[in-house]
Amino acid sequence: MMTIFSGIIKLILQLIQPKARFILLVMLLPVAISAYPQDPLAKKPNIVFIMSDDHAYQTISAYGSKLINTPAIDRIAREGALFKKAFVTNSICGPSRAVILTGKYSHINGFMDNNDRFNGDQQTLPKVLRKEGYRTAIVGKWHLNSEPQGFDYWNILPGQGEYYQPNFNKMGKDTVYNGYVTDVTTNLALEWIADNKDKPFFLMIHQKAPHRNQMPPLENLNLFNDRKFDLPANFYDDYKNREALKVNKIRMADDLDFDQDSKVICDTCPASKNNRKAYQRGLKRLTPEQRKLWDKAYAKEQSEFLSIKDEKTLAQWQYQRFIQDYLRCIKSVDDNVDRVLKYLDAQGLAENTIVVYTSDQGFYLGEHGLYDKRFMYEESFRTPMMIRYPKAIKAGKQIDQFVLNLDIAPTLLQYAGAKVPADMQGASVKNVLDEKKPLDWRENVYYHYYEKLYGLSAHYGLRTDRYKLIHFYDPVDSWELYDLKEDPNEMKNLYKEPKHAQLIAKLKAELKKQQIKYQDPIAK
Ligand code: CA
Repeated sequence: MMTIFSGIIKLILQLIQPKARFILLVMLLPVAISAYPQDPLAKKPNIVFIMSDDHAYQTISAYGSKLINTPAIDRIAREGALFKKAFVTNSICGPSRAVILTGKYSHINGFMDNNDRFNGDQQTLPKVLRKEGYRTAIVGKWHLNSEPQGFDYWNILPGQGEYYQPNFNKMGKDTVYNGYVTDVTTNLALEWIADNKDKPFFLMIHQKAPHRNQMPPLENLNLFNDRKFDLPANFYDDYKNREALKVNKIRMADDLDFDQDSKVICDTCPASKNNRKAYQRGLKRLTPEQRKLWDKAYAKEQSEFLSIKDEKTLAQWQYQRFIQDYLRCIKSVDDNVDRVLKYLDAQGLAENTIVVYTSDQGFYLGEHGLYDKRFMYEESFRTPMMIRYPKAIKAGKQIDQFVLNLDIAPTLLQYAGAKVPADMQGASVKNVLDEKKPLDWRENVYYHYYEKLYGLSAHYGLRTDRYKLIHFYDPVDSWELYDLKEDPNEMKNLYKEPKHAQLIAKLKAELKKQQIKYQDPIAK
């Protein structure tokens, strides 16, 4: 084709006068350039995937938070799309990360709970992208107990990581960085982009914050000092007819630690030895100057704590302490998202870069009296999720369809122009974003949680637009049914009400169908 094209041009040039020949050549130059085949990599979008750890959607203003403003995270949603019903398939750190990497449920990718070790030999999103010519990297929290594979560069926090002067494992080599972990992780990310932006790149920025023990950066230590946060409506949940909730040990009123969660010194207070040690280890990493500022900032809390005499006041005070430090960490996450977005702007990369913001799961901030995650109730089952890609996604979209962390790998692969491997169980969200009709999209969400820690029971369940059916099966064996329209706070278990028998039978049949579809061995 190109040979014929050049041949014709040559012939025309031979037939005309030199001056006209020059003018014609100048006129034909753009045509000739556009006719040459382009580098197939040139148009592929870059991908920046930002994920924080335990970030509740209740603390993102794009989701209507009354607790905090998150202008940078909101910007991603405003200039792209916000998923209003995004869920995880197994609400706990390691398993969620494994689902994102593989596009497969926990029982398929093999990482069921945090004690597992991720089999990095299997197919993953970065490996497929690499085959498509992408440079790949991950910085920050990894938490999969095996070395990352499929990344050209990895620089990860060992285990849960530390907030101050964090240790990193840089491609197998221990390295300590001065500074605050959220800033350090972002620094490493931006340095890597600077060195790799000449090729399409895929970068996972995995923030440790706001994971327990929520140690805020120095500049935020006095934020929200004068704010009093309202308790959620169901903070004093009596757990009536809900056996699994009754025996759990992640209650704000009883199970938070005074030192790591309230940042006060109380050697005689009950706390798990491991938690106490972890917090003391974290404090030791502060420089003497930092420690001075830290102690000064928490002096007021220390004296408040000592003056409280009754348990109810103490529980509410602990709630305020927890929320304050959690939000101070979120503020730093948002500031660092801002840095990433501004860097992409400044480098002219924003237009052709997909930016995703999400968390590995949601988080309870006092709902049902809980903190932490795990349960299939909305606040930890749902997760924040948004995507920006100016070239292909219209700004300001609000997506009501169910999307899952399972969909992240197929979605990014489709936008990257790669073939989505047939064994990935998620679906690309591109059609939903493009509003292509008719939409054959999931009408419910299947969930399965395994880890039996803190008095929790393994459970699976189904959520439709209106109802949620949960089966706790080990060690507690009980069913729960909620009408999310009438009871959005999930306080009234309807399972034993005879009038719902037909509905329950229908939901159970659908649950079974999903278990078979996703090849969950529990269906047998
Ligand atoms: Ca987490």
